[in-house]
Amino acid sequence: MSIKVCKFGGTSMADGNIILTAAKIVSADASRRYVVVSAPGKRFGGDIKVTDLLYACYEAYERGDSVAFEEIYAKISTRFLNIEREIGRDLKVQAALEEAKTAILSGAGKDYCVSRGEFITAHIVAEVLGVPFVDATEFIRFDENGQLKEETFALTGEVLRAYPRAVVPGFYGLGADGKVKTFSRGGGDISGSIVARGVRAELYENWTDVSGFYACDPRIVNSPKCIPELSYSELRELSYMGANVLHSESIFPVRSAGIPIRICNTFRPDDKGTFIVARSKRKLDDRVVTGIAGKSGFTAITLEKSLMNTEIGFVGKVLSVIGKRGISFEHLPSGIDTMSLVIDNSFLGEGVLPVLIEEMKAAVNPDRIYTHENIALIATVGHGMAKNVGTSARLFKALSESGINVNMIDQGSSELNIIVGVEDKDCADCIRAIYKEFFE
Ligand code: ASP
Repeated sequence: MSIKVCKFGGTSMADGNIILTAAKIVSADASRRYVVVSAPGKRFGGDIKVTDLLYACYEAYERGDSVAFEEIYAKISTRFLNIEREIGRDLKVQAALEEAKTAILSGAGKDYCVSRGEFITAHIVAEVLGVPFVDATEFIRFDENGQLKEETFALTGEVLRAYPRAVVPGFYGLGADGKVKTFSRGGGDISGSIVARGVRAELYENWTDVSGFYACDPRIVNSPKCIPELSYSELRELSYMGANVLHSESIFPVRSAGIPIRICNTFRPDDKGTFIVARSKRKLDDRVVTGIAGKSGFTAITLEKSLMNTEIGFVGKVLSVIGKRGISFEHLPSGIDTMSLVIDNSFLGEGVLPVLIEEMKAAVNPDRIYTHENIALIATVGHGMAKNVGTSARLFKALSESGINVNMIDQGSSELNIIVGVEDKDCADCIRAIYKEFFE
């Protein structure tokens, strides 16, 4: 029988009634055999996700503020007890909450604490569906550097194949120290992808609160077009650059196994959604641009030096300056005698930038070195760009007609994307101008 893995995000687990809706979706298709869940998310604007409450709870525990700890834990308990009440059955939530609290107070650690949202939710969903709960620590394994171990995929298959159906908590696995270890935020999508690969699913369904992947952020352009189909690489580029429907690392497990992902809307289950597939399976390569995404908060450091191209090891020396400080770069656009390093501002705390500049001067003695702070990067993504002559001309004309000054241009050699750097304040206008040019 075919196998589908369904992953439900936080908004699909936000209250008891939505959980019942999700359960109905699972029961409507017998091939939906493995279900991966997030912790309850926001029910309304201004609400707080359970995972955020758990992080706050752990902070209170660490500072020894038992009053704040109790207060926040009570809020978490109320959320789960309300869910149990709305579902209208004894789901043993109180016992699970007490067990988690005792373990947190006995030093089980931060990752254990913040993972309890998914753990308790998965128990609830397992009870509702009448399907076994299988803990992710049984098969998702990390090494001592916090990287996912390759053995995870085989182990996932081995463990889960013993169950014809199962509910699994997302977001965590087992660290090299034998303790719970989480992925980065939003990592439930990665868990779903691992389960899909492990059980060799025919489809990984990611159920969320939107009807697919939009061509750009709907907060910037009113009702942008929904993308019916995109490739794994287009998805990776768009989600890395800020389109946040799926965690940007969630494609890796399924991509190597060629398992398509479908983004579906729990609140409109009949909508087609977006399919993410291998490029070779795509029919739509003639579309010029697939989507646009942008992220702000970067700094570019530009170095100029005559005959830079002939100086062996120039780039290496510059990179070793940031590498020694544990700083990575986002982009490295270069000319013959110039190179720029684009760095996420989160690496550039108080006083770091001037130090980097001095160290680069000492390392490579540039003719000129200067910075552009507060830049946003906007990626225009699509396999079709490589085939359609004049795409970049259209893009830059659209930007100049909108009066947007471009500080930096980087086109990946795969011609899958064109990235422009503009001032933070121009980010939304830049996305609007590109959308208008290619989609309206
Ligand atoms: N609950 C976690 C978070 O809020 C993981 C997830 O939802 O995927 O980041």
